Amino acid sequence: MSDTSSELSLPVSDGGVRIERVVTSGTFELDGGSWEADNNVWVVGTDDEVVVIDCAHDARAILRAVGHQRKVTHLLCTHGHNDHINAVAQVAAAVRAPACIHDGDRMLWDAVYEVAPDQTLEDGQVIQIGDVELHVIHTPGHSPGACCFYAPALGVVFSGDTLFNGGPGATGRSFSDFDTIVESITDRLLSLPDDTVVLTGHGDHTVIADEAPHRQEWLDAHAASDD
Ligand SMILES: [Zn+2]
Ligand SMILES: [Zn+2]
Repeated sequence: MSDTSSELSLPVSDGGVRIERVVTSGTFELDGGSWEADNNVWVVGTDDEVVVIDCAHDARAILRAVGHQRKVTHLLCTHGHNDHINAVAQVAAAVRAPACIHDGDRMLWDAVYEVAPDQTLEDGQVIQIGDVELHVIHTPGHSPGACCFYAPALGVVFSGDTLFNGGPGATGRSFSDFDTIVESITDRLLSLPDDTVVLTGHGDHTVIADEAPHRQEWLDAHAASDD
């Protein structure tokens, strides 16, 4: 037992939709570089059916978390960086569920896979899982097709690499843009209810109200960094 602030009791909906986190490890590769990465994989659903958000690195670990009894309805990708999608084809084949990603990240998808994704995500699309709606919010900036998934009934948003505990995701590499990510966060995420829990693509969760006051600091830090 520990009392670190990273501990969070994840919400459960009236209909029994719960959230499970699986952390997997591998490498993120872009622009000829390679970095070690621990990724959060989110399994959201009931005893009967689930969606999986970001099939990262380790299909076996993800399939173990899903279990044999539950139907997988969608494999949702927050964006196309290889560390977030590199296990999705294997999971898709095993559970016969569609891999879904925004078309804006197709060039990142195509860097990993020779076949097209099964479905494209659109801003405003709603994916139903049990009694919970997952609203697709297109939040370009970290990548052109980055999306967050907002579950009002659970009071959580799955933010991928758009918003972390501590600020915006990285925008220093190809296909990323700082001004665009800040606009996405400001318009689409900081406008969510203050107590919305942000479940991130890497590391600890945060809360909208804990990030919103720091927006000017992000801008100042970026202006000083000149990248
Ligand atoms: Zn990323
Ligand atoms: Zn990432």
